[in-house]
Amino acid sequence: MQTATQTAAAATARRKMYDSKAFEAQYHTDAPLGALWSAGATRFALWAPTARQVTLSLYMDGTDGGPYMTLDLARTARGVWEATVDGDLDGRYYDYAVTDSEGVCRRTADPWARACGRDGARSMVIDLRRTDPEGWAQDAPPARGPEDVIWEVHVKDFSHDARSGVPEALRGKYKALTLRGTTLDGDGAHPTCLDHLKRLGVNYVQLMPVFDYGSVPEDDAEAFNWGYDPVNYNVPEGSYATDPCDGAVRIRELKEAVQALHANGFRVIMDVVYNHTYRLDSWLWRTEPWYFYRQNPDGSPADGSGCGNDLASERSMCARYILESVLYWTREYHIDGFRFDLMALLDTALMGRIRAELDRIYGKGEKLLFGEPWAAHGSPMRRGAKPAGKRALPGLDENLGAFCDATRDLVKGHILHAERPGFVNGGSARLADLRLAVTGWAGAQGGRFAVRAPSQTINYLSSHDDWTLWDKLVITMDPARQFDTPSPAILRANRLAVAFCFGCQGHWFMLAGEEFGRSKQGLQNSFNASAALNRLDWARAWDGPWQALADYYRGLIALRGLLPALCDKSEGAARRLLAAWRPGRLAAAFQLDNSGPGSRWDELLLFYNAASCPRQAPLPAGRWQVLADPDSSFRWEDAAPALLCGQAALPAAGALILGRAQL
Ligand code: CA
Repeated sequence: MQTATQTAAAATARRKMYDSKAFEAQYHTDAPLGALWSAGATRFALWAPTARQVTLSLYMDGTDGGPYMTLDLARTARGVWEATVDGDLDGRYYDYAVTDSEGVCRRTADPWARACGRDGARSMVIDLRRTDPEGWAQDAPPARGPEDVIWEVHVKDFSHDARSGVPEALRGKYKALTLRGTTLDGDGAHPTCLDHLKRLGVNYVQLMPVFDYGSVPEDDAEAFNWGYDPVNYNVPEGSYATDPCDGAVRIRELKEAVQALHANGFRVIMDVVYNHTYRLDSWLWRTEPWYFYRQNPDGSPADGSGCGNDLASERSMCARYILESVLYWTREYHIDGFRFDLMALLDTALMGRIRAELDRIYGKGEKLLFGEPWAAHGSPMRRGAKPAGKRALPGLDENLGAFCDATRDLVKGHILHAERPGFVNGGSARLADLRLAVTGWAGAQGGRFAVRAPSQTINYLSSHDDWTLWDKLVITMDPARQFDTPSPAILRANRLAVAFCFGCQGHWFMLAGEEFGRSKQGLQNSFNASAALNRLDWARAWDGPWQALADYYRGLIALRGLLPALCDKSEGAARRLLAAWRPGRLAAAFQLDNSGPGSRWDELLLFYNAASCPRQAPLPAGRWQVLADPDSSFRWEDAAPALLCGQAALPAAGALILGRAQL
């Protein structure tokens, strides 16, 4: 039996080998890997440099029955094992048996697979062109608008609600993202799903994980999970397909969803989880044990993800794997942006390469890239590699962004302490911090968040993680915690919160349904709760006070695009902030230069009054048009606009947005 010391020594030796320049020089390869289909033959290629033997098995079915053919692969250059099988193998399934350097044989799917059978344990050979929907070659994203407003949704949440107007067979499926004309209970009057989104005016739809994940059996219609548990990185999840058993269907149906979103004016962001796999015992691990994973000095797997394992993004073949995966989704599925889960577990060199490659192929900044600038715990990255976390942000490319937790917590209160309020719900906020929030924390020193330019800042009040905005406001403001009661005070706080987020430089991100007071009944983490709890409640979207809240969001989203002061993403954008002051206790005011081509107002005034009493505030010189007040965010559309001179009445618990009328 090995002692703990021997185990640790062996782990250290292996880690040193995988981290060494010699290993990289000998085994790094850019040769194509996976099942490379052509009509006449398919070439199978697997990277497994320390394996003793690799055997391919071919199957007619994605889950059942034994192989109809097995074949040993031949070891070729740089740790690649290869075989070519004649004939048209499109639609055939396969896996490998890999014998490692110690003689242990493991069955594994192909980590480089682009298609798979139900639940992903068998890979599939695919002629990708036959998965293209009609018109796919002409598919293109809509033109970029003046602002990026991102709406984050889970495929199942979008249409699971029986009242969504989506036919039952398509609820919770990719297909529901293609439907136009759905209405509440099919009443023909109250738009839901895609039609709701078009009304709202956001222009990016961010899909929570749609790569193949493992926590949901793909033939179980009731099962629910967010899906942050990757199994096949380069294959769509099967439970959202109308048929998870035929590996071509999920591919075609995800493409149809992207195509429909594009056609309806939305770009598509994919949520990617390259920091860990569902289990350490993954296809990557089974083909080359430990190479793709970080280890602690005692040999145990690193756990910076809090999910039991961390990918070693700094090793060259792992970096290649992640980079190629991003490029593949972009090319094959026409994805317009990526949101990196726990980006601080990936290294800055890799993130920079991903940014540079996408810029080279598609144009500078054309694809959005941002992530969570944190990790659950520390992770033992190879010496010299730097985590792409908060501290790295000012040194990253100006188009590598991150979620701004500082503004989020400043506005509504801490995410871990339920009852701790923020600026809008009874807490306090320093003017200096509010001021940094307005400029997207660009150039901030010693603060809780800092970037080079607001192009890096993702402003948000809620995402899938933690309490919804509505639930956080209820928890901090209503001792009875009535999540389904449209309390006027909480609705006012919600409007003030979103008006503040609207007024911050950076990108604007929101959780689906935030606009109509989405609630998870106070549940902080709903990753494996029921679909019934997680789903968007389309009846709520059309319930009076919440519908009015959604209209308030709608007006602010439309107004934002008209305001160069807020849309400016450049390094100099902070200079547009001309003044910041307190017009009273619990209130803040910001004056911004709003000049720009076609701008209707040369300056902006943003007043936020979190106090429960109204007050008078003096105004800078000029005639000021009311663009939004707590009752309406569409004042800017008024044919006979209200103009203020000298002073303004600041409403209690609300925002007043003014634009200086041009002379
Ligand atoms: Ca799956």
